[in-house]
Amino acid sequence: MRLQCVDCERELPTGKFEYQCTCGGLYDIIHDNANLDADYLKRVFRDRLSERMTPYASGVWRYKELIAPEIPESCIVTKYEGNTGLYSSELLQQYTGIRRILLKAQSENPSGSFKDNGMTVAVSHGRSLGYERFTCTSTGNTSSSLAMYASLAQCTSYVFVPNKNISLNKVLQTLSYGANVISFDGTYDDGIHFYEKYSEELGLYICNSINPWRIEGQKSIIFEIAQYLNWEMPDWVVIPGGALSNVTALGKGLEDLKRLGLINKVPRVALVQAEGASPFHQMVAKGEDTLTPQPNPYTRASALNIGNPPSWQKALRTLEQTTGVTCSVTDDEIMDAKAKVDQSGIGCEPASAATVAGLRKLITQGTIHKDETAVCILTGNVLKDTDALRDYHLGDAFTSSYRNPIVNAELTIEHMRDFLKGNAYTK
Ligand SMILES: *Cc1c(COP(=O)(O)O)cnc(C)c1O
Repeated sequence: MRLQCVDCERELPTGKFEYQCTCGGLYDIIHDNANLDADYLKRVFRDRLSERMTPYASGVWRYKELIAPEIPESCIVTKYEGNTGLYSSELLQQYTGIRRILLKAQSENPSGSFKDNGMTVAVSHGRSLGYERFTCTSTGNTSSSLAMYASLAQCTSYVFVPNKNISLNKVLQTLSYGANVISFDGTYDDGIHFYEKYSEELGLYICNSINPWRIEGQKSIIFEIAQYLNWEMPDWVVIPGGALSNVTALGKGLEDLKRLGLINKVPRVALVQAEGASPFHQMVAKGEDTLTPQPNPYTRASALNIGNPPSWQKALRTLEQTTGVTCSVTDDEIMDAKAKVDQSGIGCEPASAATVAGLRKLITQGTIHKDETAVCILTGNVLKDTDALRDYHLGDAFTSSYRNPIVNAELTIEHMRDFLKGNAYTK
């Protein structure tokens, strides 16, 4: 295993661990695993599906050889994360217009978002280096996930949360796991800058997405998709982008699968951002090669509310390697798509529904053909943001094309007969 800067390609001596190179670029993990045999790996990964009480029962650690071969089993902190459903949906095929859609419900992770896929690896790595204090700055899900794993490992977590535009549910979840929550006046980006400067002095292990071990763990999402589909990939994988760690992991995971011969075809990646926080999409759309940060990002999809995504260079590599595309969608488009995902019985938080909204748009634009197949990655759970649900179904903050309000009823048989016939409810 080596650490290499994505920008200047400087390599760190083995055994050392830093997040960021002196040139400002982030470090990337490179495994020496070219000699692993595809058939051997497929057999091992299949055999581990019957594990229950070992780390290999996890949908992340099942792929340990490709994620973190050096981390000792004794340091692994796991809640058997991953192992999430991959669902088809007639309703969402109709809504997006595509022939075949599959939804990968990372929302079913133990803390309710895909952040668990990466966090189990970051916290385990921190433990292997002897750390007992962990930290992150977060718009919500990262902090819930870190708080959960830190508590599971009987360690302490310190979580910096912006005091605006975040979901209260997520902060409450973080508090409930026992994290020290520090709310500050500033943005996610300000929090990141603070850590770049002071984490070493404070002796804190940083679990933000700049931590390359999180990216390694998040590769398991595409590994699981590939394994569940018998190593036959769809035409497209659609993913939402905030800090751009997940799209980075997706690209890296696909590269591993292709290089090792586990898959033949590499799907194209479609990255979807919320219009109010879409610096990466704008860079790509304008054909520029450097990211211009957006100073005041705003979207109701709180997990995407990031104006200066740290992993943009790594994300660009994913697009290049997969002939990927980007698009942006409005909050109304996101919330309508979310209503459909929820109605399909799968459910997700606003940020995740950007994928379905984006797929619909890319089909309308002709970028994705309706005869193709797509997997949308649903990143977070339906109950992560109940404010958004209330505003959509019971308030007037959104267009709410699929509003499903509460019906106030008198319990009489006449009313109910009428109601079941589909007649408007009359008092
Ligand atoms: C973190 C998060 C995202 C964005 O992922 P990035 O890696 O930051 O691009 C999207 N949806 C949910 C629910 C998230 O928690």
